[in-house]
Formats: sequence, C-alpha cells, structure tokens
Amino acid sequence: MPIKIDVPFSHKDEAKKLGAVWVPDVKTWVIPDHIKDINPFKVWLPPNGGTFVKYPYLIAQSERECWKCHKTTPLIGLGAKVYITSVFDSIWTIYDYPAFFVDIKSVDIAVVSILSERFPFFRETYSKTLKKNVWVNNCIHCHTIQGDDYNIDRSYVFGGYQNEKRTLFRGKQMEQIQLRFDYYIDSAIYEGEYYWDGFQEAE
Ligand SMILES: [Zn+2]
Repeated sequence: MPIKIDVPFSHKDEAKKLGAVWVPDVKTWVIPDHIKDINPFKVWLPPNGGTFVKYPYLIAQSERECWKCHKTTPLIGLGAKVYITSVFDSIWTIYDYPAFFVDIKSVDIAVVSILSERFPFFRETYSKTLKKNVWVNNCIHCHTIQGDDYNIDRSYVFGGYQNEKRTLFRGKQMEQIQLRFDYYIDSAIYEGEYYWDGFQEAE
C-alpha cells in the first residue's frame, strides 16, 4: 500500500518529480507502492526515523492468566511480514522477515482507532516501573499491566520474556487488519525465527 508523506505546498513539484502522488480525497501526498526505495523522500519522512509497516498488517491474539487476579485475559501484539525501517540503520531499508513491534512509543492514528475499538485492553498506559507511557496489554478484569508479556521490559529479552513471547504467539491466531495506507510505528523491533510458527499459520 502507499506510504503517506508530509509534503509542504512549496515542495510539491519536487515530490512529484520523484514519483510522489497526490491523493485528493484525503489531501495527502503518498509514495506509491511500486517505489521500493523511499530514501529520496527522506526530507518528508518522520525526522527521528521509525518504521512503515507494509501489507499485510498483522495482529497476533492470545490470552494468559493475569499474574495478579489469576483470571484469563486476552493479549495482542502488532506484527509484520514486510516493513521499511530506519531503526537498525540511518537509511530506510526494506525487510521481508517476520517481526513484532515492542516498546511502542507511538503508532498511526488509523491503527489506534482499530485498537481502541477492537482491543481496548491494549492501550497506552502509564507504567510506574518504567515511569513513562507504554503500549501494553491490560487485564480486562483488574486492569493491571500484563508486565513482561508483550512490550515493555526489554531486559528479559533473552530470558523469560522470550519464553513468554513464544507462548504468546506460537500456534495462536494471527489476524490481518485492513488499512488504506501503510502505517507508521515508532517502536523497537523484534525479529527472529521463533516467530515463524505463528506467521505461517497466518497464511
Ligand atoms: Zn487481572
């Protein structure tokens, strides 16, 4: 899908020359899908970098026993098969490899609206442990943050955290959401072979 870019009016000719296309009904310039190298458009991309998730847009769903109230509560995670990111490097690079987004600082409003409607338990929440807002799963019964399950404590990546992730997504449901444009996310990225099981099930 196309990628939305923020082109000031005075730059429109330059953007057009590079292949950007104006989408009149939403009044935005986009990089069309057939353009694979988005670096020439860098000046109109988020200045602090990040990631554009290409289609298909995946949401992994699972559940666990809440560590506090011990009732069963649903969990989700945002995933991708293909994405363009500047997280690993200063240039925007396309990766065709499954990944999940963790430590999410912000995400496209189009995704936020789907999350708030369909998965309201996954929301931006203040973490007393981290002393900042994070996107996390909250227990639907007692509203406690489901701590290291999905996207906050990176220190456990090579320990219990990864094991939790494996439990979370292996053999569980992977749903595709429908969006008109590729979405932007400001987060860390986890990729790795152990995700393949879940992604294959999504196919
Ligand atoms: Zn609970």
